[in-house]
Amino acid sequence: MFFGGALSHMAIRRATLTRAFATWGCLSGTPSRILRLVRVVALCSLPVLLLACEDSSEVRGPAVDAGPLDGVVADVEVDAVGDAAVVRDAGVGDGGRSVDRVERFTWVDIPDGRSEPVEVELPPDVLSLTLVVRGEGLFFYVVGRLEGPEGQVLVAEGPPDVEPTPQERFSGGPFPGPFASPNRSVSAAFSVAAMMAPNNPGVALTPGLWRYRLLARDGNGDPVSSRARVTALIKRGPSPQVEGTLDLHLHFTGARGWTAATAPRDPDLSRAIERTRAFYAGIGVTLGEITYDDISETYRTVDAGMQVGSTLERMFALGRYDTGVNLFFVDRINSIFGGDTVGGIAGGTPGPTLHGGTSRSGVAVATALDPDPAAIGHIMAHETGHYLGLFHTTEITGVSDQIPDTGEGREGADNLMFPTVTRGSAQLSDGQGWVLHRNPSVLPLGGER
Ligand SMILES: [Zn+2]
Repeated sequence: MFFGGALSHMAIRRATLTRAFATWGCLSGTPSRILRLVRVVALCSLPVLLLACEDSSEVRGPAVDAGPLDGVVADVEVDAVGDAAVVRDAGVGDGGRSVDRVERFTWVDIPDGRSEPVEVELPPDVLSLTLVVRGEGLFFYVVGRLEGPEGQVLVAEGPPDVEPTPQERFSGGPFPGPFASPNRSVSAAFSVAAMMAPNNPGVALTPGLWRYRLLARDGNGDPVSSRARVTALIKRGPSPQVEGTLDLHLHFTGARGWTAATAPRDPDLSRAIERTRAFYAGIGVTLGEITYDDISETYRTVDAGMQVGSTLERMFALGRYDTGVNLFFVDRINSIFGGDTVGGIAGGTPGPTLHGGTSRSGVAVATALDPDPAAIGHIMAHETGHYLGLFHTTEITGVSDQIPDTGEGREGADNLMFPTVTRGSAQLSDGQGWVLHRNPSVLPLGGER
């Protein structure tokens, strides 16, 4: 058993971090020790974890028991099974700038842990490709290869000339090669995975015939035969999007006394939303529709454990909106560090974009960690950033994001995607905005800037 990869972010109290890393140690140079510790922890079926660290890092998924991937990719004919395409208007922001979203639903067989390549044709005006993978409950999935018409490889099981570092193996969970790829690809947790390309300004999609391949592993990291349903979301536009709008769907458990009836007029929640709004306004994304729904009080405390059907997973499945991002306000999120340490969790990096109702269809925001609306607004925006495809500026393993204008290590502490919560000033960079505008959930708004 290992932790999944990018079930993103647990923002941690700094005091707790100090205690935690007195036990775990920060990862600089000690991955084997961490892996040993994680192995012990993982045996307790404990959760996908992201920790923040005083000196900037975070724990993501360790590759315990996963073994090295072989890096060999066979040259096999394409075999897309049951492919059906639906073209629909993706929704157009108020500015009337039209962008199509093409959805292709494909069943993909994954014999012995690796599918044949599956084709997807990208149009001349492609902005991004997002693959949402829904498989079986007890298996991990990842987009393990993505290759373009000119032979460019954005995701590989073993990227050429790249030997994943111990830190990348730790962060990449059962799939270190895809994690170390030019366009990072990770497994969030059991049964659901997603990948967006490009997810950093250093890679580019070109029109033409692309091929992707899925990998599947069981909880021990061993290859398994499985089948998954893949949705390919192709975002298109006449020019790169620079202004967009994002819907937020807020779900209330009764935590902090907020309900769907009271929340729209609650001054503290309004302050939190305004903080979230300000982060996104900085990169040209406005908040669109905001909805308010109640869910059962039984989710006021959720368990971030790895088991299928955890309270966290069941809560995320209540996020039935298939636009924007579902946010869930809870009191606390239980983890091995206790319920007063984890600020938030996202259903993936990215989450299952535009797919409501899955075990990863949302982000959880703990309101008891720091009740200050500024902190809550920070967590809301940070987890939303993960869900839309942003990684931490630097993970606890020391692995940096692939975005050149975010600071390294503690130099990234003023960035929204630094792994600790702050009430202080923080922002998103232009490079991060470049990524966010490619997510299909961020609808186009207005013209060019
Ligand atoms: Zn995070």
